[in-house]
Amino acid sequence: MQTTVVCRCRPFLDHDAGSFQAVTTNGPNIYVHKEVSKAGLVDTTGKVNSKKFQLHASTACENDESLYEMYVEAVVEKSKEGGAGCVLAYGQTGAGKTHTIEAMMDTMFQSGVEIVAVSCFEVRSDKVHDLLNDSEELKVLTGADGNDNVVGLKKLEAEEAGEAVKDVVTRAKALRSTASTNANDQSSRSHAFYIFFLPSGGSLTFVDLAGSENKADAKSHSESENADERLKEMKEINKSLGDLKECIRLTLVNSKGGKQQHIPFRRSVLTRLLRTSLDVSPTSAVKTTFLCHVGPTRRSLPMTINTLNYAEQMCSATNAAKEAAKFKGPEKWSPKMVASWVEKLDGGKYATLSESMHMSGKIFQTMWLNDFIKRVSAAGGTEADGNYIYDKFHDLVAESKKGNGAKKKGKKVDDVTIEIAEGKKPAQKPVSELIGSRYFAVCGQNVASIYRVDGGALSSSSSPSSPSPSPLTSTLVQTYTGSKGEDWYCCSFGGLVSSLVHNANDTSGTTEDGRRKGQLLALAGAGRCISIIDPYAGKLVASLIGHGDEIYETTFVPIGATNFSRREMTGSLLEGSPTPCVDDFLLLSASKDESIRLWNVQTGACLLMFAGDMGHRESVLSIDVHPLGHSFVSGGMDTTIKLWRLEDDAVVRDVVAASDKSMITDIRRTTQIQLPYFSTNHAHTDYADCVRFLGDCIVSKSTANLILLWKPVLGEGGRAARACEKNSDAIIPLREFVLSNCDVWFVRHSVSDDMKSLAVGNKQGMVKVWSVEDPEEVSRLSQNTQTTVTATNIF
Ligand code: ADP
Ligand code: MG
Repeated sequence: MQTTVVCRCRPFLDHDAGSFQAVTTNGPNIYVHKEVSKAGLVDTTGKVNSKKFQLHASTACENDESLYEMYVEAVVEKSKEGGAGCVLAYGQTGAGKTHTIEAMMDTMFQSGVEIVAVSCFEVRSDKVHDLLNDSEELKVLTGADGNDNVVGLKKLEAEEAGEAVKDVVTRAKALRSTASTNANDQSSRSHAFYIFFLPSGGSLTFVDLAGSENKADAKSHSESENADERLKEMKEINKSLGDLKECIRLTLVNSKGGKQQHIPFRRSVLTRLLRTSLDVSPTSAVKTTFLCHVGPTRRSLPMTINTLNYAEQMCSATNAAKEAAKFKGPEKWSPKMVASWVEKLDGGKYATLSESMHMSGKIFQTMWLNDFIKRVSAAGGTEADGNYIYDKFHDLVAESKKGNGAKKKGKKVDDVTIEIAEGKKPAQKPVSELIGSRYFAVCGQNVASIYRVDGGALSSSSSPSSPSPSPLTSTLVQTYTGSKGEDWYCCSFGGLVSSLVHNANDTSGTTEDGRRKGQLLALAGAGRCISIIDPYAGKLVASLIGHGDEIYETTFVPIGATNFSRREMTGSLLEGSPTPCVDDFLLLSASKDESIRLWNVQTGACLLMFAGDMGHRESVLSIDVHPLGHSFVSGGMDTTIKLWRLEDDAVVRDVVAASDKSMITDIRRTTQIQLPYFSTNHAHTDYADCVRFLGDCIVSKSTANLILLWKPVLGEGGRAARACEKNSDAIIPLREFVLSNCDVWFVRHSVSDDMKSLAVGNKQGMVKVWSVEDPEEVSRLSQNTQTTVTATNIF
């Protein structure tokens, strides 16, 4: 691909304090979040509205060098080979365009690229001003070769300049015209071009585009003297940026082959001047990186959405994917579609044969190969041609079937949900989690309930092979109702209540050692927001906002298991209770947005995001923390299972240590961790929808009706993760537990604390229990309902 469209989200700056992180990036996906507000007030119990955009790539990295390495170096290489390279920065004023362009040029200078000459100019209101010659106004004329050139533009040869190219550029930058806007008083109202000529004859163009301003900005100037001029300027800027988008979009479309579209380069001076850098004729050697910049804050959200809409339209890759999704299977093609497919196949190699394809996709699909070859021969093709086209078509049919299959699977999942929603089955999905050994919680739709377990022997020492006919009773003690439309998928107990409720007189719920008053309940699901409830105070104490999509599982880091920052933590304490620590409040969550997040429940801060380069490539369905808290495991729809470091990772440790209460004013800054220390796709061939630690082993379940007990094979000190998937990280399978009716992707199993038993429910409401050591099924607990048991908890 010659043009890459990348989103760069600028880091939080001092003046952003107080606004929350409204943008998260993950590979090609960018999510923007907006809290739902009622009557102008943020609805803390409510949903977060998130919107997903897709470009070629995105980055929230704060490091200019790695941005250069990832997206600019290849452009520079192209220029070194004699081609035309171009790096463009687009975005709202204040989003970091100038910062990035300057950093990219600096990095290029530092990397020792040899430059023979340089030109700098700016385009303001469709007029060109030479930045190396006192802003002299110059004309753009079309030369004999059809290319547009700036006539009389100063081109400083490196030697002639008598100063470093870098200094020439600095001088040029100073001449750029700027005027005050809301966002940034160094705002640029012009497109700045910095063109470097290399010894190979190639050129490298950096363009710092004018800010894509909005109406509010324009309005705020309407009272100033030059209001008219400013408005006119804004119009010109928007027009030229629109033309640029159209040119890049069509360039991308053309680069996919097929019928070549006319690209309207002549519409603006901006696009006329960029023509050589964008024109992807088969002979041209060009490479372009389009860096679209967004601010990270809630405040800049409206413009962020504009910017991303703009960039998404440009990315024909996204459009192509959408087109493909709409596209019918080849067996449903009309004769015309079949003919046009043959015409385009392999760049038109078989175009002459397309005339003879008077048949629908359905007929093609059922036709014998011999008959097809006859047809092709009659049209002047060879047997090999016939074979090739026939195979290609059937590959397509097979591929589209595969797609349909996946869809069906999704539908099946939906069916179950729909049945529940219609009331044929109980509304509450039995998702349970323990509190101490006396309470458990269930949730479903927007209702969560806590039950107390009374009587009965709950001791885990009771032999699993003879489960006592249980005299247990459970009593409903509390019910929480979420906002309408919420659908909680998961609940978990953990963390520490005491320093969240400042209620020293209430000692109910204090455990025997008098240390803790109890645990928090986390609820999450379709609403993307994690609600933290303090069951002792009976109220919502925090809403964790940040995930870009549905949340499938949450889990607290076991208290006292880790040794994060035991000393650093400060906070309001109950008299006499030991100092609570940061790690008493750590919660992990797994989401459809392909990320796992680590939260400090006490401050509401999202500390870390485990996602990106080597992270999950699809929904993360399940997570579990190691009993010792040093790491956690995650499984997802991409069929991989990954292990991530918590306590052993220096970055994690630092971030967690810094996350005590003092951070509350600056809480929405999230560090991203991209590298798991282990990743495997050898455990399962289908969605890995539940992962649990069993000691150091892992018990994972997949929708292929299988639970596997296995051990990761780690390199020395754990594998350096970058190459981990390629190196096919090995696993040692230990046991298999075969299931039935568990092919939906949200069934959770559980292992007992004594690491001896394993329980899982299925679609038919059957719960199976195994002894781990002996993979003989030990009991079936059937409720004879037809409800899917989505989670079990054994203790
Ligand atoms: P623009 O050119 O889009 O108007 P600027 O490049 O002037 O925006 O950036 C606005 C502010 O943000 C500047 O103070 C700049 O230093 C800062 N900034 C932008 N991007 C980054 C970054 N990646 N790292 C640190 N600071 C940044
Ligand atoms: Mg700027």
